[in-house]
Amino acid sequence: HERSFIMVKPDGVQRGLVGEIIKRFEQRGFKLVAMKMVTPQRALLEQHYEEHKGKKFFDPLLSYIGSGPVVAMVWEGLNVVSVGRKMLGATDPAKSEPGTIRGDYAIVTGRNIAHGSDSDKSAKREIDLWFRADELA
Ligand code: ATP
Repeated sequence: HERSFIMVKPDGVQRGLVGEIIKRFEQRGFKLVAMKMVTPQRALLEQHYEEHKGKKFFDPLLSYIGSGPVVAMVWEGLNVVSVGRKMLGATDPAKSEPGTIRGDYAIVTGRNIAHGSDSDKSAKREIDLWFRADELA
């Protein structure tokens, strides 16, 4: 069963979009297998975003994601990684299609509501980073 790591970022939580995002994934037919609300520590975020280390948006990105609670989730189902990315829309909300989560609720890349794994490999890596084995159904 394919799994993806989906996270509602602090702006999504503050704006009350947790339920809307969960609803969209449920309605699409995916299965929620794990979920928790946490304010992530910097060390976790450095690992999560290690591919962006050294880029100029790295520090602002870590401050943003570490600024408040996020809702971390594992969703399961056929092609959930690629379909989940489509449901989120383009990273830059200016390029996200209306009907996608970012296309409906966001306007700037630096506050783009939610994260979704970009490949099966990153999904496995991210799920291992954010969840213990006994937290996964
Ligand atoms: P995510 O990993 O959050 O799903 P993504 O995979 O669509 O996003 P990445 O290119 O991996 O996009 O960038 C990770 C996150 O870093 C983006 O979602 C965004 O919050 C932030 N980010 C990326 N590029 C920029 C930028 N140029 N300026 C500000 N923030 C950026």
